[in-house]
Amino acid sequence: MALVFVKNNKGGNHLVYKSYKFRQENKELNLDGLPKYCRCSSYDSTRCPARIILQSQSDVSETNLAHNHSAKPSKRKAEEVRQQILKKAKSSTEVPQAILASLFGGISEEVAGALPSTDSLAREIRRERQKCGSAPPNFKFLKNSQN
Ligand SMILES: [Zn+2]
Repeated sequence: MALVFVKNNKGGNHLVYKSYKFRQENKELNLDGLPKYCRCSSYDSTRCPARIILQSQSDVSETNLAHNHSAKPSKRKAEEVRQQILKKAKSSTEVPQAILASLFGGISEEVAGALPSTDSLAREIRRERQKCGSAPPNFKFLKNSQN
């Protein structure tokens, strides 16, 4: 699955994985230059034990996914963001990953956690574009090189 990192206001990296937010645990990076060790962003407040290790962009080791709290989804706001994503799919020629990265940057952790996976959002972007025939000429090429 495609992983999306979000900068928090302290400049650290946050990642949404299976509806929960994770944060970079130390400075170590994996082969793709992404943070390698991530722990649940609720660790400070609930001592949540959930941790994951990112071996690469697409390879996640689920060290521990036993969260001791709920994901606190914010469904209504997430639906708004989803609509924004689909609108942008029609009005811009950016690749899905770029659209998602720019919108994920401006939303809260709760909203990010309530959104569908980045993979299914990217699929929705492609579907939306096919529907209205607005895919840019080079879209096919970009899509193929991305997966
Ligand atoms: Zn947790």
